Amino acid sequence: MVFESPPKQDRILEDDAPIRPESGDDDIVAEIKSAILSKIVLAAGKDVKRANIHDWYIAAALTLRDRIVYQWLQSDRAAQRRGDKRVYYLSLEFLIGRLLTDALTNMSLMGPFRTAVEDLGIDFDALRDAEPDAALGNGGLGRLAACFMESMATLAIPARGYGIRYEHGLFRQIVSDGWQEEFPEQWLLSGNPWEFERGDVVFDIQYGGHLDRIEQTDKPSRTLWIPDETIQAVAYDTPIVGWRGHHVNALRLWSARAVDPMRLDTFNNGDHLGAMSEMARAEAISKFLYPSDETPAGRALRLRQEYFFVSASLQDILDRHLHSDGDIRSLPSHAAIQLNDTHPSLAVPELMRLLVDKYQIGWDDAWDITTRTISYTNHTLLPEALETWQVELFERMLPRHLDIIYRINVDHLAAAEKHFGADARSRASVSLIDETGGRRVRMGHLAFVGSHRINGVSAMHSELMRETVFADLNSLYPGRITNKTNGITFRRWLHQCNPELTSLLQDACGAAVLDEPERLRMLEPLSDDRAFQQRFQAVKRANKIALAQTIASQLGIVVDPSALFDVQIKRIHEYKRQLLNAIEAVALYQAILANPEGNWTPRIKIFAGKAAASYRQAKLIIKFINDIGNVINNDPAIRDLLKVVFIPNYNVSAAEIIVPASDLSEQISTAGMEASGTGNMKLALNGAITIGTLDGANIEILEHVGEENIFIFGMKADEVVQRRAMGLDATGIISSSPMLTGVIEAIERGVFSPDDPSRFAPIAHALRFLDHYLVSADFEDYYRAQRAVDMKWHSPEWARSSILNVARMAWFSSDRTIREYAEDIWNIPLT
Ligand SMILES: *Cc1c(COP(=O)(O)O)cnc(C)c1O
Repeated sequence: MVFESPPKQDRILEDDAPIRPESGDDDIVAEIKSAILSKIVLAAGKDVKRANIHDWYIAAALTLRDRIVYQWLQSDRAAQRRGDKRVYYLSLEFLIGRLLTDALTNMSLMGPFRTAVEDLGIDFDALRDAEPDAALGNGGLGRLAACFMESMATLAIPARGYGIRYEHGLFRQIVSDGWQEEFPEQWLLSGNPWEFERGDVVFDIQYGGHLDRIEQTDKPSRTLWIPDETIQAVAYDTPIVGWRGHHVNALRLWSARAVDPMRLDTFNNGDHLGAMSEMARAEAISKFLYPSDETPAGRALRLRQEYFFVSASLQDILDRHLHSDGDIRSLPSHAAIQLNDTHPSLAVPELMRLLVDKYQIGWDDAWDITTRTISYTNHTLLPEALETWQVELFERMLPRHLDIIYRINVDHLAAAEKHFGADARSRASVSLIDETGGRRVRMGHLAFVGSHRINGVSAMHSELMRETVFADLNSLYPGRITNKTNGITFRRWLHQCNPELTSLLQDACGAAVLDEPERLRMLEPLSDDRAFQQRFQAVKRANKIALAQTIASQLGIVVDPSALFDVQIKRIHEYKRQLLNAIEAVALYQAILANPEGNWTPRIKIFAGKAAASYRQAKLIIKFINDIGNVINNDPAIRDLLKVVFIPNYNVSAAEIIVPASDLSEQISTAGMEASGTGNMKLALNGAITIGTLDGANIEILEHVGEENIFIFGMKADEVVQRRAMGLDATGIISSSPMLTGVIEAIERGVFSPDDPSRFAPIAHALRFLDHYLVSADFEDYYRAQRAVDMKWHSPEWARSSILNVARMAWFSSDRTIREYAEDIWNIPLT
């Protein structure tokens, strides 16, 4: 590898520099030190003595980036030379988190960098924490995109992620008096050392206007789109390094800007505000991550964002392909475009528009190219989350695309008529236009029809796709739906976040376990070995002490690291049922009060997660968790047997601290509602035992770890459907459960909200009469399963099961998921 060799500058450090023996390669350490020092001076323009921790972070990141860039250009050149097929991963969200330790681990430079930084007298952990957590996503879907980027680089698949460079990512959550408050997030405020602005990669993105039809003799008529608004998309590239640093891909994020920011004519007329407002309108497109999670967007700005990044990405993909191949028709052999959910569905009509209008390809050929290039990942079947847009909004904003969608629908409905015959219901159900209650474009259907493969994200979810929302489309286009169960990158979610466990695993399974996770199986015989169990538990304990310190310093709550750490960390959503967990805490609290001498298991219930700013019930649940914590944590009669803790501002960095410290993983969604989950995988991989419903990937975790190593409870998906059909009233269930009755009555009496006794009336009401999420219906079985957890906690079986969870999670590596995408969807051979 070629390293730049800046002038040696160690002398700047003078005599107060700490002197300690260097671990490992002295040359590399010295080189890194001198590079960091020169970055402080030459890139930040600061005297080293004036540098603050943020300057040190920037200097370290730039130093590392220099090394990555060589590898990056090499990867690109090699792929180019071989004419490799490339993957383009289109996602409106990338929940990346911090990159420094990720890139250091994958470049195998963690040791030398740590030494170099500490030699310079800087605390490495403080430097790491100075990096803002890049949260360009809401939750699981965005985190999946980030894990996939890392796995594609690791597997040396030439790939590029495409998204939006939001100026403000997901809001920062502050919990004030138990209520969630949202504050803007400012990840770009002090600059982003990872990215390269590509001033030369700029595309025009157009909106609005009207269509002209040009009739041509002896040729089909042509359509001309005359847009009335143009803005520009500017590329910013972030290198993503694979494991061992062999291959580097780019994440290309688009930023919006006005075409002519100065609009001098307007200025000359003195209309400064008019010119500014045009700029603001353009720049608004990449200003904010759309703040909602699994709720209908309903706002025109969101559709503008979707078209903005799809159009820029497709223009870029076609430019690149033409440049390297010269023949637009060979696109499907050289490009695979993956749509992460329906947000990039406009890729279907946009690719058609570019092929037909710009490159003059006939409709049928263009359609063949489109469907062979595009594929689509579905992430949810929740009816309220299935994206649709009013036809009328489409017509105003993207008239040519609506025109193309209608044209696609003509052929599509003709095929449907042939297939379904007189069955008008099925024909209507597959149409790209929903004609019921105002005409709307169905984005999921659009993506489905324009793709050669449509995948679900867990076995159960893919099955439900075939049976429910996409049943008729599946019958019309059989064989297109396939399953690709999600995964997580073990580099971030094991090696990096849990280095102590990783080194124990290397001892037990050999160093090759870092490259071949299947070797984790070698832990199985050790799961009964008392000495190994003790080492394993010592690692867990150290991680729990670290989390306990974080909780103490952030919240002033003291938790005992020897208690069971019971963890539910994810977006706050009614279907994820944080409420079920919280009312179990209340029931347990009441049971301990009633029987203080019982053989109780000391437990810390740890919650973390953000609620969509507009989601009132979810925000009330956050307040509820905080309020019950206030009462329980401060009740001396409980003698610390139970604590309830809400850790604010859940993000990737918080997960990296909480996951390694967890004993019990709460995966308790209403069956049939969680498409996959990936938090469940992170926790099990780090030795937490799952308590969960038969939902999403929990089912596959059960199959892998074995039923004696997981706690399963609750209604199954088909039982949920039946139960709902009988109505949502839970009065009967409550009256047959004295415990649940006691919980709800305490809530209604204001036991947890003495300052406002009716505060939680909406929660009590939902539990009694609107039990859509089956919280009341599943309560007794959940309570029973939790007592089985208590029993096991006190036996050696706990350590055994915990070790077996780690031993059997290899399949959930996102490397496995990406290999499956490459083989079945992208048609990319892997060596
Ligand atoms: C993994 C992860 C998620 C997804 O969690 P689920 O439990 O699968 O919903 C959400 N947010 C962050 C920050 C994550 O790391």
